[in-house]
Formats: sequence, C-alpha cells, structure tokens
Amino acid sequence: MVFENPLVKEILEKYRVLWAIEHAMSLMSWDSETYMPREGYRDRAVARAELSLLQQQLLLRPEFVELVEKADKYEDLNDYERGVVRVLKRSIRIARALPPWLVAERAKVTQEAMVVWREARVRNDFDLFKPYLEKIFDLSRKTADFLGWDKHPYDALLDLYEEGLKTEDVDRILGVLKTNLKQIIDGVLSKGMYPREHPLEKIPYETGKMEAVNKKILEILNYPIGVRSRLDTSAHPFTIDMGINDVRITTRYEGVDFKRTMFSVIHEFGHALYQLQIDPALSYTPIGGGVSLGVHEGQSRFWENIIGRSREFVEFVYPILRENLDFIKDYTPSDIYYYFNTVKPSFIRVDADEVTYNMHILLRTELEKLAITGEIKVSDLPEFWNDYMEKLLGIRPRTYGEGVLQDIHWSMGSVGYFPTYTLGNMVAASMRYAMEKEIKLRERVASGEFETIQNWQKDRIHKYGATYPPKELLRKAIGVDYEPEHLIRYLAEKYLK
Ligand code: MG
Repeated sequence: MVFENPLVKEILEKYRVLWAIEHAMSLMSWDSETYMPREGYRDRAVARAELSLLQQQLLLRPEFVELVEKADKYEDLNDYERGVVRVLKRSIRIARALPPWLVAERAKVTQEAMVVWREARVRNDFDLFKPYLEKIFDLSRKTADFLGWDKHPYDALLDLYEEGLKTEDVDRILGVLKTNLKQIIDGVLSKGMYPREHPLEKIPYETGKMEAVNKKILEILNYPIGVRSRLDTSAHPFTIDMGINDVRITTRYEGVDFKRTMFSVIHEFGHALYQLQIDPALSYTPIGGGVSLGVHEGQSRFWENIIGRSREFVEFVYPILRENLDFIKDYTPSDIYYYFNTVKPSFIRVDADEVTYNMHILLRTELEKLAITGEIKVSDLPEFWNDYMEKLLGIRPRTYGEGVLQDIHWSMGSVGYFPTYTLGNMVAASMRYAMEKEIKLRERVASGEFETIQNWQKDRIHKYGATYPPKELLRKAIGVDYEPEHLIRYLAEKYLK
C-alpha cells in the first residue's frame, strides 16, 4: 500500500472533494477552449469564480488544516505520505497568505486586461494596455509581499509556478545561457548549414489529411486515443487532464506550414504522457499530477525537440508524411530534417527555433524583475524590450505586436511564469544525455522503440507524480536538477558539428 499512515488516510478522505472540484473545473476549462458557444463565457466565468472560492474554503477548513499540521510532525511517513503533506502545506500557505480582496482584484483586472490586450495588440496601441499592465505589476508586487520573500520579490512569484525556484537560480542559469547561446547562434548563422527559411513553410495542406498524419504519429507514440485520451482543436494548443484516465490534448490547423500543427501535437503529447504514466495509486490525491511547470515542460520539449526534430525521427515519420501529403514526394528525408530545424532570429517567441528560443525568455525575465521592483516604469517597457531584443538577437521590433504586446501571459497576471520554459528546455536536454547513456536513445528512436523511452520516463519521473519536490525528483532521475550545460552541449553538437 502506498498510503498507510491513518492520519494521512484521513487527510486523503477529506481531500477527495477538492479533487472532485478540480476535476470539474478542468473539464469546464477544456470545454471553454473547444466546444463552448461564444457567449457561454459569461456564465462560465461566474461558475468558475464560485467554485474557486468553494475550493479555497474547503482547503482552509480548520479541521483539515489541523490534520495536515499534525501529519507534518510525524517522523516516520513514507515518501508518498510526506509528498501529500508537502503539497498540501504549500497550497494552504499560499491560500492563507493572499487576502480575498487581492484575489478578487486580480481576477477582475485580468479578466478585463485579457480583452484589452487583444485589442491593443491588433491596433498596435500600447497606451491602451498600459494602465492594465501597471495595475498587474502593482498587484504582482503586492502578491509577492503577502506571500513573503527574502532576497528578491520575484522569488515569491517564481515559486508560484516552480516550487522553490529562486531569482538567483534563474540569474545564474540565464547568465550561462546568454554567453553560450550567443556563440552558438552566431556559429549556426555563419555556417549556413541550417537554413533560415524553407520552401515547405509556404506550402498549404488539407486539414483532413494533416489530421490523419497527426493521429498516425500519436498512434505510433502509443497515445491511447479514445481510451484514456483525446485530440481536439482549439485556438491555442494545450493539454489538460481530468485525472489519470482522461488526458486530452488539442492542436490547431492553420492550413499552411504543416510542421506547426505536427510539432504542437508532439509537444502536447509529451505533456499528456506525463499525466498518463502517473502511478494510479496516486489518483484523487494532491500528488496525482505533474510536480511543476518546469518538469512538465521538460517532458513536452523532450518529445517535441529532442525526439521530434532529430534525424532519426524524420526517417521514421517520412513514410507517414509521404503517404498523406502529396507535396512530400518532391522532398527527401534530409530536406524534411532541415525544414524541421530552420534557425533564424525572430520576433515571436512561440515561433522561435530551439537555438534562439531561450533568448526570448531571458528578455522577459530581465524585464519582469525590473518591473516588479519598480526599477523600470511600465511606460518604458516597449523601448527597453526593443533595445534588449536588438542586443540579444540583432533585430528590432517594428510594432508592439512584435515586441512587448506579443504574449498573453501578463494580461493573465502570470508574472514569473516565463522562466519555466527554459527550465523545460534544460530538463529535456539533460534527459537526452541520461537516456543516451542508459538506453541508447537515438537507436531506440531510429527503430521506433518508443515504449522503451516512455518506460524510462515512467520509472524515473512520471510515476511519482508530485511525490518529490522538483529539484529532488530531477536529481534522483537524471543526476542534476536545473543545469544549462546539457542544453548548451546538445545545441552545439546538433547545430555546429
Ligand atoms: Mg508546454
């Protein structure tokens, strides 16, 4: 038995209702993004707000909090039991720290800000969004102060997305990446082996045919479609789970440049796999999900970049592409490989290649840190963004949409979220080297033995859910936590050799 301590068992009994609300809210989110009629958002917003409130109240029930505090004093809890206590203590701490007025204010401001941000981006009007962004950074600063911090207010915000992550960790990682990536980017561009663009980026496809390609790839990757999972379409691709037996991904079909939908599917598959491979004994508990955004993103980037963009994988999917897309006959597997791996300094983060991607994160992180402390005024952000972009990638945005207004995150109040993308890229690269050594990763991909790779992920990372804190889990699984060395080595080996 995974859970034996009577106190922890009682906690889990009482936790089930919280799990059930989470289950319902996830299903509501999925529906909002896929099939809900447009005006449905009005009632959905009310329902979500009420359920979140109920969730908070249930979490902070005095008898529940007391049980968790009591269990925390037990010395002989096993790892899973300790995990339950750790995760709940953290949720309780966060819920208690934030006063209801702040939570309500954040909800109100961000709801309006998301609408205004969309319009400001379309109209290329930063001033329209500026008052909201000022309010959002102000509320983020207040959030940090209520949560408490030691060295930097940004610490408190980072921790919301990645348990225990500190500003000094992020500074160290990004500092190392900055110098090394600059050299790698210059090297790739001057060598010219990897193209900046590719003719296939302009070639249209039929949605139905591309859907068939995506489904075939998912089948090969053992995605249990229709049994424990689904693939649907939405404006922005995402993964969501209703529990271990119902994990859903989405993609979008833009009708041109087929790698975009294909890689979004492989990326979200990586997220879904994590959820699908969690030990079923952890169902309905606070540790029955992925441990953090960084570790989660590591799984998705691993499948998208390390596997999906490798030569071995291209050989493997080529017949599927050839069979379903007429225009592929004009291209060799090697052409497809270079199409999958174009490298070019570009403005939009979500379209960035794996070499330049982390520069986009560096920029946002630097900016968030300065805006949170008030060292830089919100009105100066656009200029600061453009100057920094020029310094990092040698290009200067011409519109706000290409610069400061491009991402949805700030309008949602997500400050401190961006660094988790780079954590994910590092985890993916570190996993690659660990697997290469232990199971000869590249040979496994070449022969399509994806199950071997997935079992490795399950045994080392996935099955534990949130049992261990992120860094501890990573050290156990791959020997290091968040270290940039593997990512740098991977990029240098792939793009410069
Ligand atoms: Mg992701």
